[in-house]
Amino acid sequence: MNISGCRLRNAFLYICIVFFISACSSDESSLHRARLVTLGTLVDISTWGVDHDTAEQAITDVESVLNDIHHTWHAWQPSMLSQINKHLAAGQPAKVAPDNMKLIRQASHLAAASDQLFNPAIGNLIGLWGFHHDDRPQGPPPEPSAINSLLADAPSMNDLIISGTSLKSTNPAVQLDFGGFAKGYAVDKAITLLHSRGITNAIVNAGGDLRAIGTHGDRPWRIGIRHPRESGIIASVETAGDESVFTSGNYERFFDYQDIRYHHIIDPRTGYPAKDTLSVTVIHGDAATADAAATALFVAGPKLWPEIAAQMGITQVMLIDDKLTVYMTPAMVKRVHFEIDPQPTVVISNPS
Ligand code: ADP
Ligand code: MG
Repeated sequence: MNISGCRLRNAFLYICIVFFISACSSDESSLHRARLVTLGTLVDISTWGVDHDTAEQAITDVESVLNDIHHTWHAWQPSMLSQINKHLAAGQPAKVAPDNMKLIRQASHLAAASDQLFNPAIGNLIGLWGFHHDDRPQGPPPEPSAINSLLADAPSMNDLIISGTSLKSTNPAVQLDFGGFAKGYAVDKAITLLHSRGITNAIVNAGGDLRAIGTHGDRPWRIGIRHPRESGIIASVETAGDESVFTSGNYERFFDYQDIRYHHIIDPRTGYPAKDTLSVTVIHGDAATADAAATALFVAGPKLWPEIAAQMGITQVMLIDDKLTVYMTPAMVKRVHFEIDPQPTVVISNPS
């Protein structure tokens, strides 16, 4: 999981936008809100129609679950994950508790469905680019020879062997980093906990990525989708039932070096930050899948995304490329309301 001051500032601005939309025109008496600092970002939890004590107790318990996930899966601070990574690099089996193994299996399935464009085994590459630090990297970018040498090792989730509670890698270059997925996993766990307390109307918003259940009184939850180049939002969406809305953007973590932007979503095929895309928003039932898919489709880019979306079972996608052209599935077109004038050029494609 990633922590940085810049990321917290981003999250603060963005969460304010989402709340601004949520707070318009309604009786707020049944709304309960809390803000947590966890998962390397700000997490806002809203519940609707629950008494104060039930909401507060549930939020305290959610905080403990999220803190636990954050510390367990932290990619560069001492954590259970760093212990696993040490074992994998040494070719030794690591003992992993069943619930944690579930996350690894889920990530492996999503990686396979994405043709390994979502590849949580490339922790070494992400570290080489300087993103395994709390502070923003300053550059310069890594030497091409260093990138090529890590690419030649071709780490992937397919190198892992899971047997009961034992995890091994046939490739010592595998270093796990679940930064593209753990936030979604955590949001799912938070929603499951809220459900178990009888809370059926809620939103768990981790730095702008969220899962919403039920409604906000007599109207749906309304979500802002951040503009990838300007402050403010480009579009809004109303959630229905139980849905997650996750965005991967090149503005979340990056450094500029000699007028070139290097961001934190790495294309495992090239070893460099993925090109051509500014942001990808996915709407899907569970948050873990939405999170992994947003990362994978960002890497896939404006040409390949429909194929990868189809393979991952994702039907609602909005991809914004570096010319601010907006690519959407027909199902997403029905959901998105643009909040900018003039409206952008939209290209509609089916997942295929
Ligand atoms: P955000 O953190 O902005 O929500 P993502 O969900 O796309 O964005 O996660 C980006 C993080 O995922 C990076 O910081 C890194 O830890 C990890 N990552 C980068 N590239 C990949 C990739 N191709 N596959 C899987 N994880 C990746
Ligand atoms: Mg992601």
